[in-house]
Parts: sequence; structure tokens; C-alpha cells
Amino acid sequence: MTLAATQALEERYLMRTYKRAGVQFVRGEGMLLWDADGREYLDFLTGISVCSLGHCHPAVVEAVREQAASLMHVSNLFYTEPMARLAERLAESSLGGRVFFANSGTEANECAIKIARKHAHGRGVSAPEIVSFEQDFHGRTYGSLAATPGLARNEALGPMLAGFRAVPRNDAGALREAVGERTAAVLLEPIQGESGVHPISDEALLAAREACDAAGALLILDEIQTGMGRTGSLWAYEQTPVRPDVITSAKALGNGMPIGACIAGPVAADVLEPGDHGSTFAGGPLASAAAFAVLETVDHPALLRGVRERGKELRAGLETLDGVAGTRGRGLMIGVELGAGIDAAAVGTDLLGRGLVVNVPAPSTLRLLPPLLVESDQIQRAIGLIGESLLECRSS
Ligand code: PLP
Repeated sequence: MTLAATQALEERYLMRTYKRAGVQFVRGEGMLLWDADGREYLDFLTGISVCSLGHCHPAVVEAVREQAASLMHVSNLFYTEPMARLAERLAESSLGGRVFFANSGTEANECAIKIARKHAHGRGVSAPEIVSFEQDFHGRTYGSLAATPGLARNEALGPMLAGFRAVPRNDAGALREAVGERTAAVLLEPIQGESGVHPISDEALLAAREACDAAGALLILDEIQTGMGRTGSLWAYEQTPVRPDVITSAKALGNGMPIGACIAGPVAADVLEPGDHGSTFAGGPLASAAAFAVLETVDHPALLRGVRERGKELRAGLETLDGVAGTRGRGLMIGVELGAGIDAAAVGTDLLGRGLVVNVPAPSTLRLLPPLLVESDQIQRAIGLIGESLLECRSS
């Protein structure tokens, strides 16, 4: 089907929730995508940090193919081996404790929010509160939305869930002041992704940890974008001075198969009991088999070292370009701050035309989330294309 035909169907039948770029992708392999006209693109976005192993990674394709041919779904009324094996692999490579599976990032956070509230009720708190940073993004279902201050202010979607508050990003003092007896949890992204790749300082994370300990609250880190190797360690928290009580994962966990997970360390692992939470699809054999294959591939010292090295190469190259004011991030999660007066949206569109897929999370920022297996020559190609595009967009 041509792009125009697909656009016509979308215009007639889909709700208008997305502003899409005018490209229809039909195939992906490794770092590359092809559109309906056969044009090739270098993918430095990976479906917003989802296909981190690249498109159609053979280990994931094989796991899905094999599982699809034997058992796809039976519901959570029964035991299935892929889910149990994945839970062991995830818990043992993070906080210990227990895992609840979901189908997306926002649902993984819903589970974490439920755990936090029930944990607080256990401390005798009747109106528990969850504290996040301004510009945090935790998802679009009502619980996660309430913890996403920028979107929660949309009155047309109100009333919002009560019991959420936000303090300025990286403001350790404000965080300490906001956390008290009523606090159920501090819920943060260790590096804010959607707002433009803003790392949270060690000082702010330590303040969150200490304030939670003093109040008896949980520290929840949303690792939906930062996790699964994206920053050069399996989880971003490993490169910070804090250990959270709960983490959430999704996106790259399935490399394209929809799956999320809420992993609660020992202090919160037994909070949820039968009847407290559930989901028909969650942790199904197909998604679990894919995620197990992903985890086996990503959780490897050589791969994670490669992420750190390629990330340094990419940032060093970008920082030499005219029109780049600076870069932020860790590993292969990179925000590129453009010089004054350069319209990042125009650069993003121009880059797509040149065959490089990136994202524009803020008016002056490009976000790069290339595959974790990206190679040096692809990095140099991307830097070259960004350089050309900045030249074009500055002179026009
Ligand atoms: N949390 C973070 C940090 C995210 O980046 C996202 C998605 O961008 C979500 C939660 C929501 O995930 P999903 O879109 O799978 O619901």
C-alpha cells in the first residue's frame, strides 16, 4: 500500500492522537529501516528506545517464532514457564525480590503506584502522596499521568487522581521538603527522556533516597527508557549512588514485543496480594520468551562496554559540529542541545529526508537513541548527516 493510501485510511478511521512524520516504514534489519518506496534509513531512534538490539534481531525473532509455534496465550489463571524464567532473570539481574508483568511502560508504573500506596497504608498513612520531578514522564494511564506533571495539567482530561505532587527537577532541597509522613513514594526517571534527556544529579538522587528512608517511603525509579542497557549498564541506577526499592521496565525489554515489568526489591516484594492487581495478557508466553532472549543478549559486559564507548564517540563527534551547543545523557541516550535560533523540528525533518531517523523532544533538542549494537562507521555517518543538516538549517 502506498503512503498516500495508508494516510487516507488513517485519516478516516484512526483517532487523531498522533502527529506522524510522512514516512511509512515496511521493513527493518539491524540499524536500518526501509520505507514503502524502498528508501533506506539509519535508525537512531529505535522506536523510542524499543528496538535496542536493532530491528528483527535474530535471537528475538527465533524466540518469538519458536514460542508462537508452541503456545501463545493461556492467561494468568495458569502457570507458564517463559514468564517464570523471565521473572527469575529480571529479579536476579536487578533488585532481587519479585516481578509483576504488564504490557507497557505506563502499566508497569501503575503497578508501582499501587505498591507504593498499599505500602503506605500499611504504615498507617490514609492519604498517601507520590512525589516526582517537574518534566518527569511516566505514562498516559491515569495513575502514571498524575505523576507526569506537564500532562496532568490538562484540565480537559480531569479530574486527575489525587495524591501526586511535583518539585523542580534536580532540586534536592525542594525534594527533601516535599517528602514527609504522608509520602508513599518518590517516583523519578533517573534520566528524564521525553523532556529532552536531562540526567538527574547524584545529589538529588541521594536526597530522594535519604528522604524516603527517613519517611518510610519507597524510592521508585522509572527505568522504562533508561533501562535494558541503554546507558551502558543494564540499569541506569547502577551508575548512581542509590539503590531504589522498585524499578519499572518496558520499551527495550521486548525489543518490539509489548511487555512491561515492575520489579520490587525485598522491602516491597510482598506488598501486593491475590486480587490486588492483574492483567489478562501480561507476562504471556510470547512476550516473555522475546524478553528473555533480549535480556540474555543485552546483559553482557562486552555489549554494555560497547554502549559506553560508542556513546562517548557519538557525543565527542557531535560536540565538534557547528550548531551544537552541547550534549547530555549517558551511554547511548543522548540529548543534543542546538545553538540559539536553530529550530530542532526543522533539523529533525531535514534529517529524515537525508535518511537518518532521530527525535525532537523539545524545540532546541534532538534526541538520539541508536541501537546498542551500533558501530563506529554508522556513528560517523550519523554525525556527518547531522553536520550537513545543521549547515542547511542554519543557512535557510
Ligand atoms: N516512563 C518513561 C520514562 C517513558 O519514557 C515512557 C514512554 O515513553 C513511559 C513511562 C510510558 O511507556 P508506554 O508508552 O509503554 O506506556
